[in-house]
Amino acid sequence: MAWETIHKHVAPRVRPNLTDYDRTWAEFTWSRARAALEGQPGGGLNIAHEAVDRHVGSGRGGKVALRCVSPDGTAGSVTYAELAGRTSRFAHVLRSLGVGRGDRVFTLLGRCPELYTAVLGTLKNTSVLCPLFSAFGPDPVEQRLRLGDGRVLVTTAALYRRKVAERRTSLAGLEHVLIVGPGAEDLPGTLSFDQLMAAAPERFTIPPTSPEDMALLHFTSGTTGAPKGAVHVHEAVVAHHATAAYALDLHPEDVYWCTADPGWVTGMSYGVIAPLVHGVTVVVDEGEYDARRWYRILAEQRVSVWYTAPTALRMLMRATPRQGPHDLPASYDLSRLRFIASVGEPLNPEAVVWGQEVLGLPVHDNWWQTETGCIMIANFAACEIRPGSMGRPLPGVEAAVLSCGGDGRARVTDGRVTVEDRPGAEGELALRPGWPSMFRAYLHDKERYEAAFADGWYLTGDLVSRDADGWFWFVGRADDVIKSAGHLIGPFEVESALMEHPAVAEAGVIGRPDPVAGNIVKAFVSLRPDVQATPALERDLLGFARRRLGPAVAPREIAFDQNLPRTRSGKVMRRLLRARELGLPTGDLSTLEGSA
Ligand code: AMP
Repeated sequence: MAWETIHKHVAPRVRPNLTDYDRTWAEFTWSRARAALEGQPGGGLNIAHEAVDRHVGSGRGGKVALRCVSPDGTAGSVTYAELAGRTSRFAHVLRSLGVGRGDRVFTLLGRCPELYTAVLGTLKNTSVLCPLFSAFGPDPVEQRLRLGDGRVLVTTAALYRRKVAERRTSLAGLEHVLIVGPGAEDLPGTLSFDQLMAAAPERFTIPPTSPEDMALLHFTSGTTGAPKGAVHVHEAVVAHHATAAYALDLHPEDVYWCTADPGWVTGMSYGVIAPLVHGVTVVVDEGEYDARRWYRILAEQRVSVWYTAPTALRMLMRATPRQGPHDLPASYDLSRLRFIASVGEPLNPEAVVWGQEVLGLPVHDNWWQTETGCIMIANFAACEIRPGSMGRPLPGVEAAVLSCGGDGRARVTDGRVTVEDRPGAEGELALRPGWPSMFRAYLHDKERYEAAFADGWYLTGDLVSRDADGWFWFVGRADDVIKSAGHLIGPFEVESALMEHPAVAEAGVIGRPDPVAGNIVKAFVSLRPDVQATPALERDLLGFARRRLGPAVAPREIAFDQNLPRTRSGKVMRRLLRARELGLPTGDLSTLEGSA
């Protein structure tokens, strides 16, 4: 279906930060963007200073930084001055534990005020923050703590009990576990976050921080091997600030709500850092998704800018038919809402148009990934929207489409790539390195880092096309990673967990398209000799994977197949499994085991 371009004839309620795209893109420099921040004497730059202390220093300490909506719907506020005090206390807590510059502090928390304290206090102490997704099971948690050299973990008693306690002895490097809320006294080897905080002083001088000091570690998944720890530095804050101004159109008076989980990069870059650097009020929803609850939050908290995800929008669309008696949005006052953006997976044109028709505002899709650290391509407040397109590169970002070879990735010949100029031609999306939040390494994995670059470009692993006017259109992933409900899942991690089950000989994991979640994880499993494929075994395997991996990562479907297609080198061919599942052409099978 062809979707009409959405032209914005109604004047926006506030003047957009970006009004002339071409001019801004041509004139933009990152050094000027840096000048919008305060920095430290002598050229230092610390994310937490820019996000919190800077506002207090300039007389804005009384402004509400966080509006925390508890699961029962009651809301409480934390001012910038209070946040400055709490984050300073946490920096002291870390210091008193002997945790210092570069040491890794992990969080395994949902959205809650303590998360903000731990993240920004860690950054004040020049330690490195690594967030974990609280829906991960014990396997992904343990693996990331080990790969990331976690010294400190901040979590709750319930999450610790379910996901870490049993594995603690194998995590020798994990010296301190801080329990938020009650329960530390019953958990050997843990400390009470609240008690330590109460004993710590409220003033902390942030040590000189180099813009190149490591600040954040975000794990992401590839097709094979262990998760990759993308390293980000304090200078990233320049990009968080500039891109939130352009792509989210943040203004100081905004009330802003980002629905992403803080265990993923969006929840950190745009749920914590960027909005606080802008000094806006951030809504922190401590509850679970529920359509009524979400509309109530938008209305009662008077949200003006909302950053969410396609799966969430599709869930709302389902809960909100366009006609009929259940006109949910109409029963809430959404008049404060002035800008909606979405990220993380393809945003179907229907969702863009639904926003326009039902919420009175179109949804602005934007694109980026863990490695880029900030939004790279976006639809902007002042520009037309082409529904289904991710938009155009941000000021400071140069993007290109590269011609692909037979393996579906950018073709590199004698070290050179070919930029695809023909409008509409598909290829791998590449970005010219140089923006401040570009990842600086995959932790302990130089080889994989270097493999992500060719001929002066960073290769994203995404297939896209660009139309004649410069709008980018998402085509698909060039590799086997799975996006399910906006979360990036590495098939290898799921296969490895399944193969720990005594009945399983081999496993191949793919994403099966789903109308709401984008994809769901489906596993094809071959069994060991003498093991019978039964419904009971299927249930057992699903439960086994769920306990180890957690509900967000575990397969939702399992199929038994004693003849999994394999390459001649013995690897399960996921591409073929997927093609068969979807009834697609199987493509080049020359590497299939047994082929001539
Ligand atoms: P992550 O690193 O977990 O944030 O996932 C990044 C990946 O999500 C990208 O490489 C894309 O495959 C996908 N993605 C992010 N934003 C979009 C978007 N607007 N449209 C389509 N896919 C997206």
